[in-house]
Amino acid sequence: MTVTAIVGANWGDEGKGKMTDALAAKSSFVVRYQGGSNAGHTIINSYGKFALHMLPSGVFYPAITNVIGPGTALDIDVLLRERDELLSRGVPEPRIRISERAQVVLPIHRLFDELEETRLGEKSFGSTKRGIAPFYADKYAKLGVQVADLFEEERLLKRLEQSLAAKNIVLEQLYNRKPIHASELLPELRSQAEKLRPYVCDTSSLLHDAYRNGETILLEGQLGALRDPDHGIYPYSTSSSTLAGFAPVGAGLPPYAITRIIAVVKAYSSCVGAGPFVSELMGEEADQLRRLGGDAGEFGATTGRPRRVGWFDAVATRYGCMLQGATEAALTNLDVLGYLEEIPVCVGYELDGRIVKDSFPVTGKLQEAKPVLERLPGWRFDISHIRRFEDLPESAQQYVRFVEASIGVKVGSVSVGPKREQLITL
Ligand code: GDP
Repeated sequence: MTVTAIVGANWGDEGKGKMTDALAAKSSFVVRYQGGSNAGHTIINSYGKFALHMLPSGVFYPAITNVIGPGTALDIDVLLRERDELLSRGVPEPRIRISERAQVVLPIHRLFDELEETRLGEKSFGSTKRGIAPFYADKYAKLGVQVADLFEEERLLKRLEQSLAAKNIVLEQLYNRKPIHASELLPELRSQAEKLRPYVCDTSSLLHDAYRNGETILLEGQLGALRDPDHGIYPYSTSSSTLAGFAPVGAGLPPYAITRIIAVVKAYSSCVGAGPFVSELMGEEADQLRRLGGDAGEFGATTGRPRRVGWFDAVATRYGCMLQGATEAALTNLDVLGYLEEIPVCVGYELDGRIVKDSFPVTGKLQEAKPVLERLPGWRFDISHIRRFEDLPESAQQYVRFVEASIGVKVGSVSVGPKREQLITL
């Protein structure tokens, strides 16, 4: 009986989906507890290649209950579309449960996201335009719509009217758009609600019961520690906490339930969207890593934007693991580095005439930091077929040990390819 959180130590895209899919085999529940459809988890298994944005990564196992917790930003269209796609590609009907308290991403949230990104132009924060920032702004301003509200027409209309009152002034005055009336949104929402009905329940009681019965539960984080709004590279962060500490809140479990926290660490760095990125590579070096990371699809799973790439950043990753409270790490994408004679790694930041190693500077400072690089020997070998640590080339083993020492967390598994079976357990 364990409750495990699988979370990102970096900027996102670390390979959490693959790790969750691999671990899900032994679980009864896989739970999404924050974020919405603004990040994609890529999963490759016997059914094919999938990018899940809204569904939990346990949907490929029919015996697993996949839960959308109250802390998530539920995009109903995306969820229903993903379910249909799975069925059309031969995946058995997944077992899905959606919290009646989860809040719904409305068309108006997506519209505001787009309008605001356009208005900000070059000063934008790199939104994926899935409505996430306006959604969470409404949630905390107490203007959101909970799933349960969808089933009560009068209440839903009132909630929408309340939400739209101020927005319509902004729409007209700031964005030069026509106002939107609550009644225009109703038919679509009511129709979505009916499709959602079979999945809706009190997921917090469901999970508490499962916890008491000793079931194995996986809590699946979205994005990574450095995108956390409190601890990350604000304002280039996301709008809900990406940390394991938030997992019991967003899922609805006791805080002491989680006994295992797996921080997924990427063997090099990648990041989609704006914000400071100290070990970033440019030009040909970046193109090469992005190209050779081809299997790792270094193009955002949600936006298709080419990911920014860089060398492994020990300062950022140690900080990410610390924030996550990692009890172990899963190192992914080690295979991608197999083309290098020597592998540069960022071991510190040069900042204000000092070398910073043990703390992660605030965003304003980070923008001025320069990477301090060291070089480790490469292995120039395709390791993607290897399944035992001791069969890895000596310098690949050394790289894993280097990462372990830098982050101060034991590496429990090493991923050597995107497929489920391309995994070494230590
Ligand atoms: P997530 O959001 O953390 O699940 O990550 P993404 O799915 O956005 O990005 C991870 C990418 O790396 C996907 O294309 C995965 O298929 C791929 N991937 C995961 N682990 C490995 C690995 O060990 N090696 C390689 N080459 N690709 C991997």
